[in-house]
Amino acid sequence: MSPPRRQAPSDGKRVALVVGGSRGIGRAIALRLARSGFDLWLTYHGSREAAEEVASLVAGMGRECTLLRFDVASFAETTGALQARAEERAPDVVVYNSGITRDKLVVWMSEDDWSQVIATNLTGFYNVTRAVLFSMLRARRGRIVAISSLAGQVGNAGQMNYAASKAGLIGAVKALALEVGKRNILVNAVSPGFIETDMTAGIDLAHMAQLVPLQRVGTVEDVASVVQFLCCEEHMYIHGQIIPVNGGMST
Ligand code: NDP
Repeated sequence: MSPPRRQAPSDGKRVALVVGGSRGIGRAIALRLARSGFDLWLTYHGSREAAEEVASLVAGMGRECTLLRFDVASFAETTGALQARAEERAPDVVVYNSGITRDKLVVWMSEDDWSQVIATNLTGFYNVTRAVLFSMLRARRGRIVAISSLAGQVGNAGQMNYAASKAGLIGAVKALALEVGKRNILVNAVSPGFIETDMTAGIDLAHMAQLVPLQRVGTVEDVASVVQFLCCEEHMYIHGQIIPVNGGMST
């Protein structure tokens, strides 16, 4: 039996929703997907100027980029920004990249530190998926990639909130993959190790590099290339998997 082919919608365009595409890893993913021929729905929350810069780079590649501002932690805002748009046209690709840290030892971690991180990193994935999944199921095609973390696989002191949110994403991806695979929607997680971005700006990355078998921290392109592969490669039999991008660290 031949594998199901992705049905191109009648307008011939391919649309990628990149959630949290204004900075860092999400920005690199957005630019790679645009280069691969996707029009973008690019979401941001606080970084309007950075998002506008990505949009103008995408426009320079001859692709459309629609900027959407919402807080992924808010079900109402996320649904308001995405649901009607997705009903008109299902996205071909969804990348859930938004994430924050509020690192503290548990004894100092406030309820707000806990709940903000869970709401942004994990509940946001539910909020986004809930808003677009019906339309993707009807289209019977698509790729969903969530950005998890090495911390969600092995834990990290000072990151109980973050590690729990990223481990939760892994469970969510595995469960969702079991639900939607029969509709030709492939769902995977990418799990980066130490990557040089704003998020890791306060960390001694030279020290961290010594812990990595490849002896360097990762770049945003190291992560974006794997996401691009999962989203773009036509011949794809990877589904419900967690792909580590961590320079060889043990999971
Ligand atoms: P950055 O801090 O550089 O970027 C985070 C992105 O998430 C921004 O686009 C930001 O948008 C968006 N975002 C944050 N909060 C919200 C919110 N409430 N609603 C909507 N969007 C939001 O982080 P990185 O690029 O480093 O990280 C990207 C992803 O990769 C995260 O999920 C992170 O956990 C994960 N990761 C990163 C690692 C690293 O070492 N850097 C390692 C492992 C995983 P805006 O600025 O517009 O608010």
